[in-house]
Amino acid sequence: MTIYIEPLAKLVNELSKLPGIGARSAQRLAYHIIEQSDTDITALVEAIASAHDEICFCQVCQGLSDGPTCSICSDDSRDHGVICVVAGTRDIPAMERSGEFNGVYHVLHGVISPSDNVGPDDIRLRELLARLADDNVREVILATNPDITGEATAMYIARLIKPMGIKVTRIAHGIPVGAELEYTDEVTLARAMLGRREL
Ligand SMILES: [Zn+2]
Repeated sequence: MTIYIEPLAKLVNELSKLPGIGARSAQRLAYHIIEQSDTDITALVEAIASAHDEICFCQVCQGLSDGPTCSICSDDSRDHGVICVVAGTRDIPAMERSGEFNGVYHVLHGVISPSDNVGPDDIRLRELLARLADDNVREVILATNPDITGEATAMYIARLIKPMGIKVTRIAHGIPVGAELEYTDEVTLARAMLGRREL
């Protein structure tokens, strides 16, 4: 049984492939799209196509860029001696929003996960090591997620880098702002204790 006429069915089908978009959202978006003016739809289609065509990976940090080098790597006001290593490109805007970091980044594009057949050669670790060999890097901050694979990846990288005489740090993990101690799980609490600092 076909509920939609052919072009609409096709649109709903494509939209439902997007992450977080279920059948109902896809339907709502599809109806919204067909009700838009030609100008609005042309702008949307062009934005999707140009984002897909023009965005590439920065040759230095492997983050998203619209040229060979991204805006962060080409910014001289940032401290190029401190590299924050993250798992994915989305982690950069998250870190930037914190406003606490003025160094540069390196995106691994994944984490080491033997159970998923992802080894050190499958992430952009070689690119990081090449940067460390060339640049005057003083500190590498490992900011992978505090889960099993993120932790294992951080440990692996730390072991590789430490002999190079570069300071290796790991972001602290603790109790989220607004959370209550009583309801914090024991792993988070244990980490918060381990990561305590002097005031
Ligand atoms: Zn870059």
